Formats: sequence, structure tokens, C-alpha cells
Amino acid sequence: MEGASLLALPEGMQIEQIQITENGLVIQIAATTPTSCCPLCAEISSSIHCHYQRTLRDAPCVGRRVQLLLIVCKFTCRNPYCERKVFAERFPTFVEPWARTTLRFCQQITSIGLATCGKGGKKLAARLGMQTSRNTILRRIMELPDPSLRSVVFLGIDDFAFRCGYRFGTILVNLESHRVVDLLPDRRAETSAQWMCNQPDLAVISRDRGGEYASAAREGAPQAVQCADRFHIIKNLTEAVQVLLARCQAEILAEKKPDEPGQNEQNKPIISIEEWRSPEPAYVEKVRLARRAGRHARYQQVVELQQQGMKPPAIAQQLGLSGRTVQRWLAAGTFPEAKKRRKRQSSFDAFAPYVLKRWQQGERNGLALWREIKAQGYTGTANGVYRHLETLKQTEV
Ligand SMILES: [Zn+2]
Repeated sequence: MEGASLLALPEGMQIEQIQITENGLVIQIAATTPTSCCPLCAEISSSIHCHYQRTLRDAPCVGRRVQLLLIVCKFTCRNPYCERKVFAERFPTFVEPWARTTLRFCQQITSIGLATCGKGGKKLAARLGMQTSRNTILRRIMELPDPSLRSVVFLGIDDFAFRCGYRFGTILVNLESHRVVDLLPDRRAETSAQWMCNQPDLAVISRDRGGEYASAAREGAPQAVQCADRFHIIKNLTEAVQVLLARCQAEILAEKKPDEPGQNEQNKPIISIEEWRSPEPAYVEKVRLARRAGRHARYQQVVELQQQGMKPPAIAQQLGLSGRTVQRWLAAGTFPEAKKRRKRQSSFDAFAPYVLKRWQQGERNGLALWREIKAQGYTGTANGVYRHLETLKQTEV
């Protein structure tokens, strides 16, 4: 069998030499077609002007990287009216005019990208003998034509994060085909409403329970029925139940150990200047309490099972915890509180010692304190100062 057809090279190419190197195969190929069409005037020319070599990355061969050294002819265009005097031979089914990779290499990279992702695709490609970068894979996918947009009847809409906690976009899903139909650059009601205006067949919009998408649907698709999607109902229900259980548990514990009157005042937690931060928003605190309640309940189960004589590995298996967690909890002897998250740097930190000193001197006016540190170069808002003072009111320093 001829080498050129074994490597599925286009007609007119022949293999000159194959070298096996440390990095894979280097295959020298020559284009042997005696004539070529001018890309500008389409006149056939057989006047060879010169030869030159193109270096191309090709699809791998039994796990080896393949590099093609392709000798290409340059022809002279004999059409006196044509602006192009010299042109290089082209291989439209094999490689683009100025590309450094063959079309089949590109197709394989695209397939890998579609099946994986940029980072994972790069690793997989390397395993298969293809050298590429994360960005190349992503660029290939971005270059794919958009699928034709059929009209959507049942729409799912939600937000997603470009960068967690900072920048959000909107994702739109056709709930019949379960495919993403579009991504919007933000999650503002106007943007989504405008998109919905172009979808006259919208009958049902399944959304979260926030106000933005509700008003988008009212504005952009007033004919559609709006419903809360299952994910958000279950998520909100779970959070509500967790908070309720946490509250119940706190009440039960409080009932068991009644506080002495005035004890709260004396038992204010003590914070250091390093740990001083503004209190968490209410919803974060709620979630933290709910998580703590769940953790506490599991801790009690662990202790009870141990008292019944069960061994740690069996406890771990029964409660779906890791063996290490069970051992750590049992070794601790008391309920181990979760570690506090690392304090985030804030522009207030540099002024904290000064504010603390003034607080201890008896200054309780947040606005006055803000003005004082502003004069010293603090760029934050007065609200930032109020929030920090809120912590001081609840604690002893
Ligand atoms: Zn020409």
C-alpha cells in the first residue's frame, strides 16, 4: 500500500521521507501536481516560479506527534490582466492557506474541546500525541457556528457567575431540548426582557424567585406563564428548614441550660484587634447557624453510637462521614466548632487601632469617627465604620 494513501494525504502529494525522532514523526511531503489555479483570476498555470517549505502539525499517528514538512510550488500567473504575479499552490481540503496545522488536526482539537474543556482538553490532547494550548482549544470552540435558534416555547432562565460573587450573566435554556440557547452578558431585567421580545412563542418561563427575571418576563413575554423552577424551590425550602431546625435546636438547648440574668453582659465574647471585622450579613449568619446545627446533630449521633459500643469505622459508614472526621470528633471530647474563615483584608484595617483607641476613650459616634479617619486618608464609606462599630457593641476588646 502506498504511504500517501495510508496517511490519507490529498491527491498529488507524495511522501519523500519519514524520520522517527524523539518528539515523534517528521514526514517530508512534496506536492507534485504540475498545474494550479490562480486564486485571483482562476487561470490555470504550469509555470513554476519556485518551491518553499511549510511546516504543519498533523493528526497524531499511533500516539506519536506528527510534523509535516510540505514542499509547495509557487506558480507564476500568466494572465496579463491579473494583479497577482506569483501564487502558492493551495490544498483546500487539507490545510488553510496560512495555517500551521492541518484541517484534520483542527477538527480533532475541536472534538476534544467539545468533549472536555480547555484545561482538560490540553491534557487529553497531550496524551494522544497532540500539542496544543488551552486557549487554542477554546478558540476552536468559539469559532464554531452558532446552532440555528429555533423558537423557544418553554424557557428556563437563571444567572451564572463569570467570576464568583462579582460578575454575573444570564443563561437561557430550552426546557424541551434541555439545551442552552443563549447567554446574556448580565442579569438585568431589561437585557432578558429584550431577548424574550424576540421569542413570540414563549408559553412558560421557569425562573428563580428573585424580582429581576420576574419583571423581565412581565415586560418581554407578558403572554407566558411564569413558574418557580424546581431547583430554587428545593434550595429555598432546604435553607428555610435548616434555619428553622437551627432555631429549634437553639431553643431546646437554651431550655436545658437557663441563663442567669445578666450573664450575657458578662459573657460577651472577647475579640482581638487582628480578629476585628464587621459582622456577617444576616443571611450568611443564618446559613452558618444552619450548618452548625447540622454538624452538631451529627456530632451527637457519633457520640451516641460510640456509647452504644459501635466502632469508629462503622459509625463513619452509618452516618456517611469520613473515618478521620469521626476519629477527630471523638478525640476532641467536646463539639469542635468549625474554624472561622480567614479575615479578608479591608481598607479599614490600617485605621482599626486608632478607632479602637477612640472607642476606649468613650467616642461612640460613628460619623465623627469616620470623619476623623477620613482626614487621615481612609477612603471607605461611613457605613463601613458603622459595621465595624457594630461588632464592638456586641463584644469586649
Ligand atoms: Zn491570476
